[in-house]
Amino acid sequence: MGGGLAGLIISIHLTREGVPCQVIEKRSYPFHRVCGEYISNEVVPYLKSLGAYPEELQPASIRKFQLTSVNGKSAALALDLGGFGISRYQFDYFLFQRAKQLGVEFLLDTEVETVSFANDCFTIHTNQEIQEADVVIGSFGKRSKLDIQLQRSFIQQRSPYVGVKYHILLKGFPDDLIALHNFQDGYCGISRVEGNIVNLCYLTHRDNVRTHGNLRAMEEAVLFRNPFLKNIFEDAEFLFTKPETINEISFETKAPVERNLLMAGDAAGMITPLCGNGMAIAIHSAKILSEHVLRFCRDSHYSRQQLEKDYSKTWNQHFARRLWAGRQIQRLFGDVWTSNAAVNLARYARPAANFLMKQTHGAPFDIIR
Ligand SMILES: Cc1cc2nc3c(=O)[nH]c(=O)nc-3n(C[C@H](O)[C@H](O)[C@H](O)COP(=O)(O)OP(=O)(O)OC[C@H]3O[C@@H](n4cnc5c(N)ncnc54)[C@H](O)[C@@H]3O)c2cc1C
Repeated sequence: MGGGLAGLIISIHLTREGVPCQVIEKRSYPFHRVCGEYISNEVVPYLKSLGAYPEELQPASIRKFQLTSVNGKSAALALDLGGFGISRYQFDYFLFQRAKQLGVEFLLDTEVETVSFANDCFTIHTNQEIQEADVVIGSFGKRSKLDIQLQRSFIQQRSPYVGVKYHILLKGFPDDLIALHNFQDGYCGISRVEGNIVNLCYLTHRDNVRTHGNLRAMEEAVLFRNPFLKNIFEDAEFLFTKPETINEISFETKAPVERNLLMAGDAAGMITPLCGNGMAIAIHSAKILSEHVLRFCRDSHYSRQQLEKDYSKTWNQHFARRLWAGRQIQRLFGDVWTSNAAVNLARYARPAANFLMKQTHGAPFDIIR
């Protein structure tokens, strides 16, 4: 349920191993999503082994990091592992085509309304039809109507975060840089994707938008106080007629298994975007979940109960600490004093800054043969 990165990768992994798979996605590819579009290189070996690394789309290779504070102090760091930049419009479409070539079945423009489990079988109601399945995976992202149906605890509280994305042309912006610019109550990432397009994506508090009435007014009143952001907005050519936006982004803890459903990607837990790691975690959780599901399909002695227990444990071992660290580090952002402290840390206490960054990053991983 959900054909974002996690759902697409699981469908590719399982189908390559001979397990038939169907993806139900409420939208139709290609489409834009709110995302910084910087992917940590930790996923590269695994994507290559699935034949799913988008080499032909010529992603940007990103090696350097710049951090600026609310009032424009700046620090530079090298990224030890680095990453690549590619738009979700291209990347998700590339993965969709790859999955289709392998024989994955897609139900597009189809929204799952409810899912239930009884007598060792799932029943899925979509806006089109009713389906049954032995294994159902929740890869429906950060927030879905299914979270309400499943009465997940995080959905009971409102979340104040708003995400905004533009694609821009920006002369002179380095190919290999990801910059993270702070502003009052938010931060903005800028990095290159394929071609000469630059992604500009920010996260802020909904009160920031409310106070100023609309995004443009807020950008001028708040983001422009950081001189780096003012220059970027004034020099950029904006490629969208209006930005992509999302609201109610929650970083609360979720469970990787809920009512027998196995969750992957943001549906299992979302890391704060400043870490630039949500997509890597979505892909890594897809790999781990695929391996558990394969064992369940192949080994008749491996029970559903054991599958759920093992997957929960493995997910927590790999990701719970990273998500927690991301929430703590986010507190250093979006405020004059703390963002200056973060810049000073990056300038004068480089080992400590590198240590903090490493807490949210994983090591490269590959398929288990
Ligand atoms: C502002 C912001 C900036 C970010 N920047 C970065 C970054 O630079 N680098 C990074 O690694 N990560 C970043 N992330 C995080 C990253 O975007 C996510 O972690 C990643 O997209 C998770 O993938 P996913 O497959 O779990 O979910 P998604 O990619 O969101 O896919 C979920 C899919 O499920 C579908 N769906 C939902 N409900 C239903 C339903 N009921 N029926 C059918 N389909 C359904 C949706 O249409 C969607 O296609 C950022 C996030 C935000 C908010």
